[in-house]
Amino acid sequence: MAAKKKSKKESRRGMSTRAVHAGEDRHKWADTITTPIAQTSTFVFKNVKDIQDYTSKKKARFEYGRYGNPTELAAARKLAALEGAEDCQLFATGMSAVTTTFLALLSKGDHIVITDDIYKKTWSFCTNDLARFGVDCSIAPMGDYKKLESLIRPNTKIIFSESPTNPYLFIVDLEKLGDIARRKKTLLMIDGTFATPYNQQPIQYGVDLVMHSGTKYLGGHNDLLAGVIMGSRKIVDEIRTFLKTTGGTIDPHCAYLLLRGLKTFSLRVERSNQSAMAIAQCLEKHPKIQRVYYPGLKSHPQHRVAKRQMRGFGGVVTFLIKGNMTAAKRLLNALELCYIGPSLGGTETLITHPALVSYYDMTRQERMALGIYDELFRLAVGVEDPEDIIADLKQALAGV
Ligand SMILES: *Cc1c(COP(=O)(O)O)cnc(C)c1O
Repeated sequence: MAAKKKSKKESRRGMSTRAVHAGEDRHKWADTITTPIAQTSTFVFKNVKDIQDYTSKKKARFEYGRYGNPTELAAARKLAALEGAEDCQLFATGMSAVTTTFLALLSKGDHIVITDDIYKKTWSFCTNDLARFGVDCSIAPMGDYKKLESLIRPNTKIIFSESPTNPYLFIVDLEKLGDIARRKKTLLMIDGTFATPYNQQPIQYGVDLVMHSGTKYLGGHNDLLAGVIMGSRKIVDEIRTFLKTTGGTIDPHCAYLLLRGLKTFSLRVERSNQSAMAIAQCLEKHPKIQRVYYPGLKSHPQHRVAKRQMRGFGGVVTFLIKGNMTAAKRLLNALELCYIGPSLGGTETLITHPALVSYYDMTRQERMALGIYDELFRLAVGVEDPEDIIADLKQALAGV
């Protein structure tokens, strides 16, 4: 079932109110305040009339778990209300959202353009896997809009980018990209995971599809995996139909956890925004730090674009320490509060060292060419008291 945008009244309500109330029925089964978990694999018909009312589209209802579930629908409607999207579809993971969307919309002979600073698995899917199905992929250097436009061919179906990107938090000018996509009549898809609908609303810039890894800020508690696609009813429906075949459906229990996490969505993102800004400012002044990348800092190369199109600058701070791999390892080993691990957007602050974690399988030279230096760290700020995170970083840096 489609998660259509709710009433005008609802869309006028604030982000926090929508995070708590949107998408859910006011009066629920057994008068619960929470949306029940419909933990079921199938849905039964009362009789033949009931079947025929459904098949003749007289009555909208559920049929089989892979095709959708009421708990999932409530979570999807809430997300559509937060993003200001006409429709939303959930998936088992962010990567399921990416792969199902591309496979649903592309055919042999089509072409896509992606920007060069995107999630590693999205990159490998676009450049390796899609090629096996006869879909060509061109890669545009992030920020070079002329080059990007020159790569567009008559058979270009989709332009795909992230904003902000990982790990350097590059900000794409959505207005410029939206303008190119409109003129060239291609679909524009943005992975907005790092920004969330709280900080950035790409649909306002003419972006056709917004993707999120729900695993990150939307779930928000480091305890679930989920994917989200939002856009017009027509395109999302096309993707939804294909998902029924590929089967990367979100489980009802997981949909409930997502719904639960979303209740505090704006509180958590606001806190992460503020803490990340304080941490970035503090690190920028620290004698053991070489460089800080945070879109909220004046020193960030796209700070002006970020200021124009974002409400807050997100919870991720990337920095380079002064020192080598030995110093980097010392820093990691000295941390007492920040957890060491990939991912972001949860209640717990996580720090990752891309060279040792996500890029461990590359030679030093290969990863240096991608900007993955020995002294590079990515801090994903949680919702703890920022002073405590700062204190932990300072004590760990003291030993570097
Ligand atoms: C995590 C992430 C993904 C993949 O999402 P999963 O839920 O892990 O499958 C895609 N894009 C970005 C930017 C991410 O951070």
